[in-house]
Amino acid sequence: MNPIQRLVVKVGTSTLTYATGKTNLRRMSQLCAVLADFHNAGLDVVLVTSGAIGVGVGRLGLSEKPQDIPGRQAAACVGQCELMFMYDKFFGEYGQKIGQLLVTKSDFEDPVRCENLTNAFEMLFHFGAIPVVNENDSVATEEIVFGDNDSLSAAVATLIHADALVILSDIDGLFSADPQKDPDAVLIPVVETVTPELEALCGGAGSARGTGGMVTKLHAAKHATAAGVPVIVTNGSHPQDLYRLIDGHHIGTLFKAMQEDV
Ligand code: GLU
Repeated sequence: MNPIQRLVVKVGTSTLTYATGKTNLRRMSQLCAVLADFHNAGLDVVLVTSGAIGVGVGRLGLSEKPQDIPGRQAAACVGQCELMFMYDKFFGEYGQKIGQLLVTKSDFEDPVRCENLTNAFEMLFHFGAIPVVNENDSVATEEIVFGDNDSLSAAVATLIHADALVILSDIDGLFSADPQKDPDAVLIPVVETVTPELEALCGGAGSARGTGGMVTKLHAAKHATAAGVPVIVTNGSHPQDLYRLIDGHHIGTLFKAMQEDV
């Protein structure tokens, strides 16, 4: 893998929250410190974050995610504010500016909006701000929705020609079988190509709090690697591990790029 100059990191609800549904403040603060430090080292960094709906559910004092779409949209409105307030606070502790980008799939499909989006990213880099991206859950309807931030992060990484996309997960990477069920499951360190067999291996189901699961990570990896962006799926519980990646070491599962980005 080439040295990383432009990096997209995706963090999901299960990494950002405890089983109680409340925010894991320590992890969030560590992640912000690491990404601000990467920025200080000269990298262009983008954070793709989930958590709007999850944090909104907590903020509104609801016992679970609303079942209906308007309910989830309202929860996202409330949660996205809270999420950005926390990111601004944690990044702000290191003097790091951030900018919020809320997007839907259609923004990547329309050439004019796509160009506007690219320009917004480039200007944020120019101004020294870290773009913090989420799906615009409050307006995203079924036809225009990514539905999961793994796919969104792949679209962002492709759009800005990132040198790597890191998808933080609640497990160490891709395993040969489900490690919760099979004690013989081993971590697959490198994937040359996302094959249909591999997709079948990953099945469906995400965790209770997120919407992803390994299958969406594989789809994201397929999309990004086809566009020349290597993807690393790794455990998000220790954000400092990202230093090892930047220092050129191997972490998690690396999905190799199909072609070098030009
Ligand atoms: N955009 C959703 C949120 O912020 C999450 C999507 C996902 O978990 O992948 O709540």
